[in-house]
Amino acid sequence: MASMMENLGFVSLVVPSKDRPTGLSWWLAIQEDKILIQQESAATTIPLLKDFGELGLPVLRQHYLGLLGERHCFTVELPEGVSPPTGMRFEGLRQIYDFTNEMFFSLAGRALQIVDWDRTHQFCGRCGSKTRTHLTERAKECPQCGFLHFPRLAPAIIVLIQRGREVLLVRAHRFETAMYSTIAGFVEPGETLEEAVVREVKEESGIMVKDIRYFGSQPWPFPHSLMVGFTTNYASGEITLSDAENVDVRWFTADSLPQLPGKLSIARRLIDWFVESTRNLPAR
Ligand SMILES: [Zn+2]
Repeated sequence: MASMMENLGFVSLVVPSKDRPTGLSWWLAIQEDKILIQQESAATTIPLLKDFGELGLPVLRQHYLGLLGERHCFTVELPEGVSPPTGMRFEGLRQIYDFTNEMFFSLAGRALQIVDWDRTHQFCGRCGSKTRTHLTERAKECPQCGFLHFPRLAPAIIVLIQRGREVLLVRAHRFETAMYSTIAGFVEPGETLEEAVVREVKEESGIMVKDIRYFGSQPWPFPHSLMVGFTTNYASGEITLSDAENVDVRWFTADSLPQLPGKLSIARRLIDWFVESTRNLPAR
């Protein structure tokens, strides 16, 4: 699976390149954990403006994100309590995920993570001095001790477990619906991705896996994860519901799948891959 931004022509930059036209730009405006969106007839989009100042909203901080095609992309942080202009509203990233396309979801996630990192790194974690934004790198710099604070990323593994025609899915307590998904969990310090796969699957299901293969990755900005996907095969063990995370852990076949995560998620891509691959298995 290719990276989602790859096909969209997005180039991440810290400083705007000078040889680009200064026309309309995309503006990702963040208030706490919400994004300013615009409703235009049936389409939901983000503001496309020459300058964000046109909206007359107060801005706390601004970052350049890069180029999407020929257009610049910026993110701005708005103070709490600011009302959206007419025809616009603030929406959470999970809601955007339900009705937008990959481009806006990716951009909004990127903007949210950068704004959140900036907001939480105003002071040096080593010496407590006020930091400043590095001019040419995506970093906050401490003028006192020189420490650089980069945006935080938390790698997490997400894993599909296949046993012939069956796939192991879990229903987590945190799911608001009766949805089932693949097993996922954060990588611990000192652990390889493969070790994290084996540990998480064992913890959440009691199952041992083998044939761990890289599948693809997806930024998951809730708040700053990077999901690294793997496919595996069942090796041994019986399902045990020992982990406090899950309500249910169960094997499913491709023709008896439960409610699944949305199409944009890597979890769904893994499950779709399973459905596709079992289609080609010889009949029993
Ligand atoms: Zn410092």
